[in-house]
Amino acid sequence: MPTASERLFARAQQVTPGGVNSPVRAFRAVGGTPRFITRAHGPYLVDVDGREYVDLIGSWGPMILGHAHPEVVAAVQAAVAAGTSYGTPTVPEVELAEEIVARTPVDRVRFVSSGTEATMSAIRLARAVTGRAKIVKFAGCYHGHVDALLASAGSGVATFGLPDSPGVTPAQAGDTLVLPYNDREAVRAAFERYGTEIAALITEAAPGNMGVVPPEDGFNAFLAQVCHDHGALFISDEVMTGFRASRSGWYGIDGVVPDLMTFGKVMGGGFPAAAFGGKAEYMEQLAPTGPVYQAGTLSGNPVATTAGLTTLRLATEQTYTQLNQIAANVADIVSSALTKEGVPHLVQFAGTLFSVFFVDPERIPRVRDFDDARSQEQHRFRAFFHAMLDGGVHLPPSPFEAWFVSTAHGDEALERIAAAVPAAARAAAAARPDADDGPPASEPDT
Ligand SMILES: *Cc1c(COP(=O)(O)O)cnc(C)c1O
Repeated sequence: MPTASERLFARAQQVTPGGVNSPVRAFRAVGGTPRFITRAHGPYLVDVDGREYVDLIGSWGPMILGHAHPEVVAAVQAAVAAGTSYGTPTVPEVELAEEIVARTPVDRVRFVSSGTEATMSAIRLARAVTGRAKIVKFAGCYHGHVDALLASAGSGVATFGLPDSPGVTPAQAGDTLVLPYNDREAVRAAFERYGTEIAALITEAAPGNMGVVPPEDGFNAFLAQVCHDHGALFISDEVMTGFRASRSGWYGIDGVVPDLMTFGKVMGGGFPAAAFGGKAEYMEQLAPTGPVYQAGTLSGNPVATTAGLTTLRLATEQTYTQLNQIAANVADIVSSALTKEGVPHLVQFAGTLFSVFFVDPERIPRVRDFDDARSQEQHRFRAFFHAMLDGGVHLPPSPFEAWFVSTAHGDEALERIAAAVPAAARAAAAARPDADDGPPASEPDT
């Protein structure tokens, strides 16, 4: 008898490519059938077959307070009852913008509906401000599915990008320079050669889309300096880390002030809301005060901004202390079990974000870049993932994703993780490489 998820997945594939609306949900990296979720509460997801899982996806970051937090639900219900969209300015978008300006170094913020839109708009603005075309990014950093940012590293250092997806033209990818992460020499060389043509460098403030690979000490400050020396803008993408790594995101940890920043995920409280912001002199270049066009029918939507505002107001310093503790506890439970079974691995943190790499620490003492991340024993992750799922814990279905906890992950959720992990560690220890093992063809996405 097929499960309800299996039946739904078959139906979904008849009407939607791959049965999903964002690729990683399809379980391609781990095999098997994705679970269709109907309900979530606190730290738990409930699927259409009635099974409950401890959730370590957290909607890929937003759910820092857990699912269906009563105060967020009440605020959203009140907002919905007042009408869902007006196409006029509203109160919560002003209040959310004030909250973001208060927590981060940006002077002005403009709302959009997805992280992709935020990075796309930030790049347009950087190109307009500098009158230059070229963009620098790092391999393994994901900034949404913006054409110019779907570029793969060409061979060698300081070569321009190749399209990472059909449909991206060589011209779009060719203005993008792709460099290895945490590699100062590569950054220096690229700017020496192309400095007068570079509009901006964009980086994840602390990368979480190749697994969690934090910047080495001083790396972001170095990037900001190189950009300024060459008249380029430094764009810090905090769509994942913003209001998650700390109360002020990764900026709250390393204090490097970017020219432009992008936000998403947590600031939408589980709704489609994102933003980009930065220094007033740049942001005022946007329409209607300036000539750079940018707009959106549902931008700053009152329900989405209410959800985000309520979430941020509930997320105090104490929330982040708690999140750090919970992340450390989950990591410790998992790491101890893997060590007990002799499974080589590394755990890396960036604030409250963390992930487990199935690499041999004797060979790779620290995952510094995408090549290191790609050298993981992916068969071990697959076995571990499925055993955890069978044990009632839903990890992100890819070895290139951060794991997300919430303040709702209390003792009961941690006990469930501890109960599932020994069998999963044994499965990881016993796993053998598959024929189709190898590095992923393209960079990971959400
Ligand atoms: C998720 C993510 C994006 C894209 O956001 P979407 O809302 O999925 O378009 C961009 N940058 C980073 C760092 C992200 O993690």
